[in-house]
Amino acid sequence: LRLFEFRGITVFLHWTWFIAAIYLIVQSTENYHSGIWKVAEYLALFGIVILHEFGHALACRSVGGRAEKIILWPLGGVAFVAPPPRAGAVLWSIAAGPLVNVLLLPVTVALLHFGRGLNPDLTHFLWRMKWINITLLIFNMLPIYPLDGGQILQSLLWFFLSRGRSLLIAASIGILGAAALGLLALYERSLFAGMIAVFAGVMAWNGIRAAMLLLAQENPRRRTEAACPYCGSHPPIGNHWTCPCGHDFDTFQTGGICLICGNSFNVTQCGDCGKDAPIQQWMPARAGSYAPTRF
Ligand SMILES: [Zn+2]
Ligand SMILES: [Zn+2]
Ligand SMILES: [Zn+2]
Repeated sequence: LRLFEFRGITVFLHWTWFIAAIYLIVQSTENYHSGIWKVAEYLALFGIVILHEFGHALACRSVGGRAEKIILWPLGGVAFVAPPPRAGAVLWSIAAGPLVNVLLLPVTVALLHFGRGLNPDLTHFLWRMKWINITLLIFNMLPIYPLDGGQILQSLLWFFLSRGRSLLIAASIGILGAAALGLLALYERSLFAGMIAVFAGVMAWNGIRAAMLLLAQENPRRRTEAACPYCGSHPPIGNHWTCPCGHDFDTFQTGGICLICGNSFNVTQCGDCGKDAPIQQWMPARAGSYAPTRF
C-alpha cells in the first residue's frame, strides 16, 4: 500500500500491518479513559518509526547513496538504503536513524512538560510517547546485527578490518543475540519476541553468507606457479579476466586464449599492479622464451 512520497522517497505500508495494529490496540492494557487514545498511541509510534527511517534514507542520500523506499511492517520499518561501499558513508547512513530518536528526546520531554495537566489522557499519551521513543532508541542500539547498533558496530570495525571480516564479526554476534532472544521468547512464551528472534536470526545468517562471499573476494586463492614479472604477486585462481566477447575466464588455465570465441591474448594484465605482460613472462618455468638472468 503506497502511503505518501517525500523528496523522492516513497513510504509503503504492508497489509499485515493492519492485522498487527488491531491485535496490539485491542491487547493494549494502557489506562486511557477513551479507547481512541490507544489508536492515537499506535499511530504516533509509527510516526516515530517513519521519522527514524527517513533519518536513514536522507543520510544515505547525503553521502551519494541510493534510497527510494521505506516499508512499514508490523515489526517496524525498513528503509531500503544503498550507501556507497565506504565505512564512513555506511556509518552515517545507519547512525542517522537512532540520531533522530536522540533529537526527539527533548521534543517529547518538552511536550510532556507543557501538556501535563490539560487532560489526563493527553498526559498519559505524552508520557507514553517519551518512553516509546526511549525504548526504540535503546532497542535499536543493541549491538546485534541487523539492528542499527549491530550495523554501527560493523561499520566501526570496517575502519580497522576488511569489509568481509567486520561483517563476519558483527553478523556472528547477531546470531548469538538472536539465539538469546529466542530463548527469552520461549521462557516468556512471547510470540512477538519469538518472531523478532527468527527474523533477526535469518537476517544475521544472510549477513554471514554475504561476509563469506566478501572474504572470498578479498582473499582469493592464488596460483603459486605464476608470478607477475613486475610486482611478483601470484595471480588469483578463478575467472577474473574478461574477453571482449563478454566471457569471463581464467587466462592462466587456458594459456591466454578465450575458449568461447578463440581470441588469443598476447599480454595478461596483473590485478595487483595493473601492468601488462606476455603470459610466458608470468610462467618462466614453463616457457623457454623467457630466461631470467641469474648470478
Ligand atoms: Zn534504524
Ligand atoms: Zn572471447
Ligand atoms: Zn603485478
